[in-house]
Amino acid sequence: MGYASRVSQDHGFPGVVGHARVTDMLSRAIERQRLHHGLVFSGPRGIGKATLARGLACALICDVAPARGCGSCDACRRLLSGRHTDLRRLEGQGKTNTIAAEPAREVALRSQHAPFEARAHLIIIDPADRMHPRAAAALLKSIEEPSAGVYWTLIGANRSDILDTILSRCMTIPLEGLSLADTRAVVLAELARDSAGDPIDDARRELAISLADGSPGVALELLRDPSLEPTRELLAATLRALELGPPAVFSGERSPLWSAWNTAVLATADPSAAPDDGDDDEDEVVVVKSKRKPKKAKKSKKSKSDSKASPGRQRAMAGRLAELWLLHLRELLLGREGLHGMPRLHTDSATASHMQSIQQFQTNLARNPNVRLNFEQLLLSLGG
Ligand SMILES: [Zn+2]
Repeated sequence: MGYASRVSQDHGFPGVVGHARVTDMLSRAIERQRLHHGLVFSGPRGIGKATLARGLACALICDVAPARGCGSCDACRRLLSGRHTDLRRLEGQGKTNTIAAEPAREVALRSQHAPFEARAHLIIIDPADRMHPRAAAALLKSIEEPSAGVYWTLIGANRSDILDTILSRCMTIPLEGLSLADTRAVVLAELARDSAGDPIDDARRELAISLADGSPGVALELLRDPSLEPTRELLAATLRALELGPPAVFSGERSPLWSAWNTAVLATADPSAAPDDGDDDEDEVVVVKSKRKPKKAKKSKKSKSDSKASPGRQRAMAGRLAELWLLHLRELLLGREGLHGMPRLHTDSATASHMQSIQQFQTNLARNPNVRLNFEQLLLSLGG
């Protein structure tokens, strides 16, 4: 694959793509036997924090490639597949994905007798920003005074939600999103592994990668999101309507613009609905299962007041639309072609001011309950 040459995984920990500065720093610390016993990996979701923690376990325990991990010896293989007695994960449970007190107590107790078979023992707490206060209290002393060879790695997207008393005993390592090439490499690897899924065309994959802003987990989520494609089609309809001017905006429900709008809204998940739970994916990659409901035979006459097109849903869709639109304009500003499949317009000189208006639209979305009216106003201001 042509992309692979630009991927930075040559000297990192097993399974880790990107984060080279951090793996170098951790590796040097292990070599000097000065690795802090309590680490916090904080950073956006889906960038590979859990994978990095597992790689760190290999670096600590592997005898074949000390301080790096070889990824293929018996110990590494067991660590990577979660079957090593010296790697433990304390995970969230239930709908809220919270870490409960009882398993936290158990882990704290066991850590007193670790390591069991290797020279080090690593406990991963994920998500550390969703710990029940009693769980945090149960762990505090163990993190503060760990047995020799015991290391704690706390993972969380929101560092500020981790108890201060725990943070003060740990060293925080902020992690950033991956480069475009690294994001693509992880996405391609995941898609290849999940060959049972529907084939995904290159344009859609690249769109998801661009939108994900350095998070392969988010890119994979987007790829499995049934609203991405209808929203992209709505953007194309929007750009065409802009060319045609106000008549296209006010030409009624059945016009290309508003039927694309309605299709995109109905494909978008209602953010107020309770999220699905129960998947215990060991990675941070959250797979959003597409919930395709069978279409009703009868067409509903009302659509605007339909609860299916609730304001929350419209707002979520419009927010995504604005993201796509900004991405498209940014590409144009960089002298590239813009998003795949978009009509060619001759408004290049207005690109920067369009971006400002769309950003303003994004801000207004949160305040103004009438999403569609906001959108109409945006189109009129851009067209005029
Ligand atoms: Zn190894």
